[in-house]
Amino acid sequence: MSEAEALRLERGRALFAAPWEFLRSIPSIDLLPRPDGVEIAFAGRSNVGKSSLINALVGRKGLARTSNTPGRTQMLNAFASTAPDAPPLVIIDMPGYGYAKAPKAQVDAWTALVHDYLRGRQNLRRVFLLIDSRHGPKANDLSVMNELDEVAVNYQVVLTKADKLKPSAVARIEASVAQAIARRPAAHPVILATSSEKGTGLDELRATIADLVA
Ligand code: GDP
Repeated sequence: MSEAEALRLERGRALFAAPWEFLRSIPSIDLLPRPDGVEIAFAGRSNVGKSSLINALVGRKGLARTSNTPGRTQMLNAFASTAPDAPPLVIIDMPGYGYAKAPKAQVDAWTALVHDYLRGRQNLRRVFLLIDSRHGPKANDLSVMNELDEVAVNYQVVLTKADKLKPSAVARIEASVAQAIARRPAAHPVILATSSEKGTGLDELRATIADLVA
């Protein structure tokens, strides 16, 4: 590993070794914190492993609540590091989408909140779009990608639950997603494969996030 790469991984490690706290739940975008510093967001279908990934990143089991009740209240949840020397970075956990039994009113509320947020957030630097390694992108993931392309918000695909597949199958899905995003203007070309359970890919994801605030 090059010295630069080691330094990059170390920056990522330090960023998430510091304590992280839940800031607040945001039911409507007027209640977002003042845009200050860099914001990143995590999005994905309900049950994709979003809460598990956020908790694994910060090494704190209960920080993002895992969803026993998919499709519950539609809010953005904000997290930030409380370390005195922390870079100005807010992580937004977006409500999961695509829960089959969600009532229409809830789907509409999700759509409205997410549209408002994605269209109006000047300091939103990147959306990490989580996709289950076993399933690949579904129609609603593609709709979210369409919207992000349209509003020119940079996004990066993160495959979750990579431990459930053999490495060769993970490589195949990475290649197929790479092909699917190749012509998408707002997609970051690097795809990350992760497992919250085994810790795979987390150092790289931490370093990627640290790069965004460097
Ligand atoms: P969310 O709805 O996107 O927040 O998903 P959760 O984090 O609540 O995870 C949904 C389910 O997937 C739970 O049963 C988790 O235990 C499981 N899960 C999450 N991440 C992983 C992973 O990396 N590997 C495996 N095998 N299971 C996972």
